Amino acid sequence: MPNTKPQALLTDASRRLEKAAQHAPISADATERLRFPKASLKVAIPVRLDSGELRVFEGYRVRYDDTRGPTKGGIRFHPNVSLDEVQSLAFWMTFKCAAVNLPFGGAKGGITLNPKELSKFELERLSRGYIDAIAAFIGPDLDIPAPDVYTNAMIMGWMMDQYSIIKGKKSPAVITGKPVSMGGSLGRDTATGTGAFFVLQTMMNKLGKAPADLSVAVQGFGNAGSVIARLLFEAGYKVVAVSDSKGGIYNKTGLNIPDVQQFKQTNHTMKAVYCHDSVCSIVEHETITNEELLTLDVDILIPAALENQITAKNADAVQAKYIFEVANGPVSADADEILEKKGISLFPDILVNAGGVMVSHFEWVQNRSGLYWKLDRVQDELRSRITIEAETVYAIAQKHSVSFRTAAYIHALSRLGEALNDRGTRDYYIS
Ligand code: NAD
Repeated sequence: MPNTKPQALLTDASRRLEKAAQHAPISADATERLRFPKASLKVAIPVRLDSGELRVFEGYRVRYDDTRGPTKGGIRFHPNVSLDEVQSLAFWMTFKCAAVNLPFGGAKGGITLNPKELSKFELERLSRGYIDAIAAFIGPDLDIPAPDVYTNAMIMGWMMDQYSIIKGKKSPAVITGKPVSMGGSLGRDTATGTGAFFVLQTMMNKLGKAPADLSVAVQGFGNAGSVIARLLFEAGYKVVAVSDSKGGIYNKTGLNIPDVQQFKQTNHTMKAVYCHDSVCSIVEHETITNEELLTLDVDILIPAALENQITAKNADAVQAKYIFEVANGPVSADADEILEKKGISLFPDILVNAGGVMVSHFEWVQNRSGLYWKLDRVQDELRSRITIEAETVYAIAQKHSVSFRTAAYIHALSRLGEALNDRGTRDYYIS
């Protein structure tokens, strides 16, 4: 049920802000402003089901802060979507866009439902109905949605089309993550996993670690998780475990990730990889639960599924030396402290998974200029831009002797604080 613990997630997210504010050059006024979302919209979306029955769904769109530019953030279709969740995801987007220097503020949206229960026609009516409900709240210069959990390019295409119908003109720049045929960018579908891979490589280089000496476990084998698993495999890392919502597989000597991907693509579930017939024996493995994956004795743990997977309950059992947060918010603030005490280095979501929003920015730029980039240009821009930010976060962590999470927040907060001050705060007028 939505909203069982109002504001719990947002409060947790804000704890990171308070910690970083101790080190960042930011006024108390600016910090206070960043504790609250600028605007939160809750809508009802009536949808005629294929059966003829009418069902009303609850949806949200939150614009957290727009000091650095129009707000940007994905749309999630999931049974756990609540106002609190959407607000905290919008908070993270604000810091993510600032951490990687995009000219955007943060936003997020979502609809509370299990999308697997709807037909494709029903999903299209729901997606168009959501845009009918939030059209005045979004726009290419106001707020630009994108895909998130259980939404994809097809859904973004329907949404952009509906917005264009409402406005009476083509508006491709209103939403990113669209099909390439409708103005999407090449490389957007693999951007999050690819960006995370560049960040991981940068950090391992800094730490003097070689791929062949590093074992990796990846929780979540979707858009983001499967891409980084494959890139790590190709770069020579030993990917020993992967999982999806049904469970995981483990092989101490390393899995052949392209084989796992092929099984999953052919059968639409990783369950196919668990089977014991002749085809599945190509991938030798033990089956493990998602909980077991998180506490495996590996060098690198990559949570790439949903939030709050590592909490105070299981943080003590985590054995990995490095955690790269590809999912948004997979580690709670309580767990952060336990992991830090154990000497585990955590690289935070607002840096690690920023490749998705970076290429979304490239898509928005392409839509507005009408000039479309080759894949090589997208990849080169992504690599150079995210690597600079990763190196800066590393340097801030060394300079202040703080965790990489706090360093990323200091980095983002410095940019946000500067923009808030330049726009005119109380301090500015008094001094
Ligand atoms: P997705 O829907 O493509 O994949 C999610 C995967 O997680 C699926 O394989 C699913 O089976 C698995 N999963 C769900 N519950 C699980 C559980 N309890 N244990 C293990 N696996 C589970 O979604 P995605 O786009 O890959 O997003 C994954 C995470 O990355 C989310 O937190 C999302 O917010 C974040 N993220 C995604 C993007 C993007 O561009 N796709 C960008 C930034 C952040």
